[in-house]
Amino acid sequence: MKKIVMKFGGTSVGTGENIRHVAELVTKYAKDDCRVAVVVSALAGVTNSLIEVACRAKKSDEKHIEAFVKELRQKHDDAISTAIVSKEIQKEVTQIIEKTVSELEKVLTGICYVGDLTPKSKDYVVSFGERLSAPIVWGAIRDHKFETQYFTGKEAGIVTDSNFGEANPLMNFTSHLIHERLSPLLEKGVILVVTGFIAANQDGIVTTVGRGGSDYTATILGVALKADEVWIWTDVDGIMTTDPKIVPTAQMLPQLSYQEAAEMAIFGAKAMHPRALGPVIKENIPVRIRSVFHPENQGTLITKEPIAEPKEAVKAVAMIKDVAMLNVSGAGMVGAPGSYAKVFDVLGKNNINVMMISTAVSEANISFIIKRGMLGRAISNIEIALLDRGGIVSEVTTEDDVAVIAVMGANMKGTLGVASKIFSTVANAGINIRMIAQGSSELNISFVVKEKDGAAVVKAIHQEFHLSKA
Ligand code: ASP
Ligand code: MG
Repeated sequence: MKKIVMKFGGTSVGTGENIRHVAELVTKYAKDDCRVAVVVSALAGVTNSLIEVACRAKKSDEKHIEAFVKELRQKHDDAISTAIVSKEIQKEVTQIIEKTVSELEKVLTGICYVGDLTPKSKDYVVSFGERLSAPIVWGAIRDHKFETQYFTGKEAGIVTDSNFGEANPLMNFTSHLIHERLSPLLEKGVILVVTGFIAANQDGIVTTVGRGGSDYTATILGVALKADEVWIWTDVDGIMTTDPKIVPTAQMLPQLSYQEAAEMAIFGAKAMHPRALGPVIKENIPVRIRSVFHPENQGTLITKEPIAEPKEAVKAVAMIKDVAMLNVSGAGMVGAPGSYAKVFDVLGKNNINVMMISTAVSEANISFIIKRGMLGRAISNIEIALLDRGGIVSEVTTEDDVAVIAVMGANMKGTLGVASKIFSTVANAGINIRMIAQGSSELNISFVVKEKDGAAVVKAIHQEFHLSKA
């Protein structure tokens, strides 16, 4: 009998109808002889609204809390009345929601009075999204007359470090606890419902594993329960060759390696949380990305080595917008050990993530890409710390109208001529390249163009490498 961990994201549980559909899918597989553990996200939009209300509470905006709580309660009550038919189960779930919402209201009021929102209290506030969705999914499964139990990540046994907002699971301890608490139930055929995203540190304080982290919860659970597969149910058919909004003939990729999928997750294929593959790679558990709207499709299967792998070098191309380029130059950087380190130290200390780096052997200039919103902070801090003082950096220039194009595929490794084909394609489109980087893993080649040219570049590369053919 197969053991499957199934994760349902925010849109899959966005409305009562959708939750009903989730319960139908889950129970169908349970009937077909699968042992199922379900991981659920908060209802669509709820996590964002919790962050917003917490920030407003910090500014002592008490009036907003009342309206927010009322709306949140209504949203979940509406979902209950469509997702669950049995009046008895409806009543039971409504009581749980009521109790949880009242607790949230108290927490928010507390933040409002103290006027302080720490990463720790913020995690506690956002945990309510999943704490409210899981009981409804549980109720909808019960409605189908299946035996089911729900758990918060903490109750399930997911233990993390105390890096609030982006916590890391302590995998050995977590596996031990989950095995002890959940495996016996799963073996008995109980359908498990676990809140995604939220866990607890060793002291039992609530943590979260990062935005979009329900995928991560699913793979953690997959490893701990020794699942046969982890399925990420979502609203797209799978991972695509590119964004279908740019190229309408973009294709779904039936198989990918862990490495390729991780690369694509980082480069904005919104299909998965970038860190989610970590746990399953070690245990070699396949992950499938599939659509709740087309469950008849098999989606994208991610494994160690794709079985019927097409030998194409390039598999996908992505555009990453909302980025900016910084060029730092200075004759003082040439041949001066530690000068790059100083630049990156300033960025690191100011919490600015560097996405891509390029430098020439002349060493007089270093270019890098960061999120556009971080640009002001980056310039000012480099200016304060480095410009003219100590003589390393003499000039900082920026471009905030650029986009990164990432061309990906595991078989690019060792295939000759891929880079030349990519760059001549861009040149033939009459588009100038501002910056280039290729890691020695050779899994991707990334380069920077003006954002207004980005879509044209993606189209040209997609066409040149025949990615539209099925
Ligand atoms: N609800 C969380 C978020 O929106 C986790 C998730 O959806 O995966 O980030
Ligand atoms: Mg989400």
